[in-house]
Amino acid sequence: VNACYDPMKNDITFLAGILQPPYYSLNWTRAQNLGGTGATIGHEISHSFDNNGALYDEYGTLNNWWTVEDKQAFDKLVTAIADQFDGLLYEGVKVNGRLTVSENIADNAGMAVALDLLGDSADPKVLQDFFIAYARSWATKMRPERAKTVLRQDVHAPATLRVNVPVQNFEAWYQAFDVQPTDGMYRLPAKRVTIWRR
Ligand SMILES: [Zn+2]
Repeated sequence: VNACYDPMKNDITFLAGILQPPYYSLNWTRAQNLGGTGATIGHEISHSFDNNGALYDEYGTLNNWWTVEDKQAFDKLVTAIADQFDGLLYEGVKVNGRLTVSENIADNAGMAVALDLLGDSADPKVLQDFFIAYARSWATKMRPERAKTVLRQDVHAPATLRVNVPVQNFEAWYQAFDVQPTDGMYRLPAKRVTIWRR
């Protein structure tokens, strides 16, 4: 049960089965639902603008519709996102930043739009609810042998890193948990990257 985007049809599929915990619930707060399904909807929409989706126009045809300047600026951000993941270790295997970049762009963009909806100045407790719901939506177990295979083939980075790496790009993360420069999940402001933010 998952959601997906198809660049050749320019459509998004959300199966009904994904609209339940740990992704969405009528009994959750807005912050929790934005952290779960909100970020996922943003993730899928942004696939139409990621390093692959950007190559297709609104009809799903391989056709460049970007200005040269926009594409160059975007490519710089693509490299910055790839660099954030490249070489990180998971189960003793290095993550390939380029292999996983389209998914990592989508996670970054999904989190950005969900946080835009929530509001940067939200109460720290509300921001905590958002990030905890996001993390829970990625709770996964994998044997080390499986992880080693997946890391070499999958365009998705390991779930743990899909939570811990992107959150560090957003000011809301620092406000939510009062993260300080001496903490392990602190990233210098100059090294934070956001794509598709208002
Ligand atoms: Zn994706």
